[in-house]
Amino acid sequence: MKVMAAVKRVVDYNVKVRVKADQTGVDIANVKMSMNPFDEIAVEAATRLKEAGHASEVIAITCGPVQSIETLRTALAIGADRGLHIQTDAELQPLAVAKLLRAAVKREQPQLVILGKQAIDDDAGQTGQLLAALLDWPQATFASAIQIQGDVATVTREVDGGLEVIELDLPAIVTTDLRLNKPRHVTLPSIMKAKKKPIDTVTPDDLGVDPATRLKMLRFVEPAARKAGVRVADVAALVDKLKNEAKVI
Ligand code: AMP
Repeated sequence: MKVMAAVKRVVDYNVKVRVKADQTGVDIANVKMSMNPFDEIAVEAATRLKEAGHASEVIAITCGPVQSIETLRTALAIGADRGLHIQTDAELQPLAVAKLLRAAVKREQPQLVILGKQAIDDDAGQTGQLLAALLDWPQATFASAIQIQGDVATVTREVDGGLEVIELDLPAIVTTDLRLNKPRHVTLPSIMKAKKKPIDTVTPDDLGVDPATRLKMLRFVEPAARKAGVRVADVAALVDKLKNEAKVI
């Protein structure tokens, strides 16, 4: 079976993002960009399924500007066999991405699509669910383990106070949680090898998808700055402040 892994180019998780002065968005000029961390887990999961003999091919897919090809190359270095780049400079919201992915799924016919549970830039946590709905496929979100047996995927999900284990008939959508795996370290030889792997580029037009936005972002604001703390002399002073200033005890 073919497995597709969706990867998004986002601001690196170590970067402290800054809101633009006019509050229209986040400043990404000259900022380090990387693959969304949950998507690295998705590519690692797809690669492990191939290594275990469950998948015949792993296709990494991204939607975004020409620079997103770097993200695909990272996916190829982790272990994907080929990349699919849906190239657009348009602002993409989750519904548009889900429609683009649906069109790609119709072309490629994977049996399993693995996405991150959320992109750390928009924190939407919607794309996998929307894709499952558009395709009318079963979905398992926030997976912490995936097992494949024939035409069935068994997925473990962490829920409040325990684990939920569910079975899905393939084809299906899975979104990754942090504990699913620890993505491998990408080595120099694998980066070199990835340079030779094929990447196809198509546009939303080629796929017959209009990626128009549906939501209007009104403004972005920085969180309020935290007040500096004070050091108290002893426990009695702390209790006094909690009682008489903060009035929490
Ligand atoms: P979101 O719904 O935006 O939080 O994103 C959830 C997941 O959808 C991400 O972890 C990716 O796997 C996938 N995704 C979102 N945007 C894109 C994109 N532009 N290209 C490829 N995959 C994406």
